[in-house]
Amino acid sequence: MRPYPKLIEHLWRDLKIADRHDNFFQSGLVCRDYNKDTFHFSYSSPITIYSQPPQTPHPADTPILSRCCRNEGENSWATRYSFCGGVYQSPLDFHGSILQYDSNLKPIQLYGYNASSNDPFIISNNGHTVSVSLPPNMYIDIPPFRYIAAQLHFHWGSLASHGGSEHCIGGKKFAAEMHIVHYNSKYADVGTAMEVSDGLAVLGILIEIGSFNSAYDNIISQLTQIKYKGQSFQIPGFNIRSLVPESLDEYYRYEGSLTTPPCNPSVLWYVFRNPIFISEEQLLLFETALYCTERNSSSPVEMIDNYRRLQQEGDRLVSVSFREGIVLAITLACLLGSLIIIGVTCWLFRWKKQAKNVKKVVYTPAVPMLETTSNV
Ligand SMILES: [Zn+2]
Repeated sequence: MRPYPKLIEHLWRDLKIADRHDNFFQSGLVCRDYNKDTFHFSYSSPITIYSQPPQTPHPADTPILSRCCRNEGENSWATRYSFCGGVYQSPLDFHGSILQYDSNLKPIQLYGYNASSNDPFIISNNGHTVSVSLPPNMYIDIPPFRYIAAQLHFHWGSLASHGGSEHCIGGKKFAAEMHIVHYNSKYADVGTAMEVSDGLAVLGILIEIGSFNSAYDNIISQLTQIKYKGQSFQIPGFNIRSLVPESLDEYYRYEGSLTTPPCNPSVLWYVFRNPIFISEEQLLLFETALYCTERNSSSPVEMIDNYRRLQQEGDRLVSVSFREGIVLAITLACLLGSLIIIGVTCWLFRWKKQAKNVKKVVYTPAVPMLETTSNV
């Protein structure tokens, strides 16, 4: 397990909230549970951080979710949440130089995804996305760990762009993106798991405009029931497998983070290579039906463009489970090389032939001329 990045910069800022500075932060890495506004150690190491509380208390913080959905505030995330300006951040663009084929990556195994209609889900508007709660009997196995499903949610753009995916492939942005969040079963819950580097595993499904998708309509048709922040609605359970691409063996895998504050670098990402398709009308419902604000707000804010911009990969590599692209590139390179060699060979052959003909032109007439001359 890689070390979890330290929250040193913001230690005292957060400390005033916790108000527990005696012997509490003597060593180890300190993490804040943002759900409970409390602190705990997630990793022990011989690091002395501070021994005194700050002299000047940090100004009162405002809840992060009061920001507008457009994510315009993401420039200032790092001032409150150290991780957001740190390493191992998501999302990434999966492009040539950072991709590395890994033959050890096996197809992802989904368990319990085929939920019954008798086991309802709760769909809710949390002020920055649409979230669907998932039952704990849904899980994926990533040896040596089991990751239990917690919820799925979406990121999308706006009418103006239709481009709201977080991850990109070779610079290409997709219409939207769904994340199925799982937490490591060795931790008690998502809140605990998000504080450690092997805590979460998220499946990323890229969404593109195409034909009507009846599976996704189990969710999309309910959006008008949860237009405003804080609203939730019970929907019949359905087969979540039908929301995931057919091929489970082609994906990008890397170590990254939550894409919303506090940006904890605790996510093992699995982003499928192949997108799924929904109709433009279905996408429009995401882009027009929802608000970040409550029903009675005097200044309603549309829930649009709720994606985070691309982050630096740093020294990270993205593991790729497939290599058709690499084989294709090598094949094309070989083909191009062969064509160049054939072309050059043909040119040389023709050039030599022409040179030979020129020689014949020079010498052939010389003999009869001499003969003629001698005859004269
Ligand atoms: Zn997400």
